[in-house]
Amino acid sequence: MKNLLFKNVRIFDGRSLREGTLDVLLSQGKVARMAPSLDSCEDTRIIEGEGRLLAPAFIDLHTHLRDPGQVHREDILSGSRAAAAGGFGVVVAMPNTAPPVDNEAAVAYVLQKGSCAGGARVLPAGCVSKERQGEEMAELGGMARAGAAFFTDDGSPVKGGRLLMNALLYARDLGVRVMEHPQDMDLSRDFQVHEGRCSALSGMRGYPAAAEVMGITRGIALVRETGCPLHLTHVSTAQGIAEIRAAKEEGLPVSCDVTPHHLVLSEEDVLTSHLSSSFKVSPPLRSTEDVEALWKGLFDGTVDAIATDHAPWHLDDKDVPFMEASFGIASLECAFGAVFHAWHARGCPGSLESLLALWTSRPGSLLPAVEAYRGVLEEGSPAYCTLIDEDLEKTVDIAAWKSKAGVTPYQGRTFKGWPVCTVVAGDLVYEDLPE
Ligand SMILES: [Zn+2]
Repeated sequence: MKNLLFKNVRIFDGRSLREGTLDVLLSQGKVARMAPSLDSCEDTRIIEGEGRLLAPAFIDLHTHLRDPGQVHREDILSGSRAAAAGGFGVVVAMPNTAPPVDNEAAVAYVLQKGSCAGGARVLPAGCVSKERQGEEMAELGGMARAGAAFFTDDGSPVKGGRLLMNALLYARDLGVRVMEHPQDMDLSRDFQVHEGRCSALSGMRGYPAAAEVMGITRGIALVRETGCPLHLTHVSTAQGIAEIRAAKEEGLPVSCDVTPHHLVLSEEDVLTSHLSSSFKVSPPLRSTEDVEALWKGLFDGTVDAIATDHAPWHLDDKDVPFMEASFGIASLECAFGAVFHAWHARGCPGSLESLLALWTSRPGSLLPAVEAYRGVLEEGSPAYCTLIDEDLEKTVDIAAWKSKAGVTPYQGRTFKGWPVCTVVAGDLVYEDLPE
């Protein structure tokens, strides 16, 4: 493995921005040295940073890689490479595949295929329930030993409260977090869009904010009952954020993430696109008031991570009328640019450090303790980093993506601020620097 030497980079170490510019030497899979001026030694590739920002590689807690079973939509190789192109060094692959990842062998399959994918590291999440049916608990212990990073029935909530409570207790003892997709299935049955302006104007069935809030408060009640940690994923509503904020103030071990699309898009985009199915997603794009509440939650400590919920679909799944289209938005390769651009356009609410921590050390802190890379860049830490060009402007073109996704609502949008190099375990796995 070649050494890598980044010259003249500003450093975000996972928590704060260091003064001035430094050189960073990566050697044998570790951050060997960080100092004002380092000489190159033999067998070292030099990357001129020119004052760009070097951050810990991003960690995505929520990605759909469709593998095993639906590899025409995405697979572990294409997903891992797409993630690297998006600046991610680690992605957590959701287990709602076909068959679902609900046992040790399936966890081992994802890990093994991920280990030779050549992009971001892929950490498997395992199902909470067998076959993700919500009836019987899956073999959580075996999956944890095999390397599962989370337990979740994502795609749906864990069906029964008793099963979720038992899973929280088991998972705590295994040192793995449960990730809950909060949704009351009855209240949101057959939904197409957000219940509010969008449902009223389109005539389509709505998913009320209350259905998400019910899922969140059920989870919080079980955390209060058990004292066990719980992660609530893709929170999309103002009231959902308020419930999590209150639970954190109470001292409960809850954490949550929000997606780039719920930060950058709203139900107004569904309407102005004349119901383009590329904007169809679950939970649905919400009201502009909800979007404002998510941004507030990013910078007051309520939100712990920005997670993509990257949901790649084949054109056949999406190039159909809204009512018939699959739910989901593909975004791995432009997620950072989309959010970074929006942060600027909003006049930089919250600090750059706080924003970057939501992609790095904060999601990193939610991984099982056995994970050595936790979204931190300092001497001695594993060599995972992303070089960010804050001034680079690029237009999203899905045709150039490494992901197999056929549709994204970001197509044709121009964002300023992109990852230009990604290093995973000491290997330069993505590079988009000018010659
Ligand atoms: Zn979900």
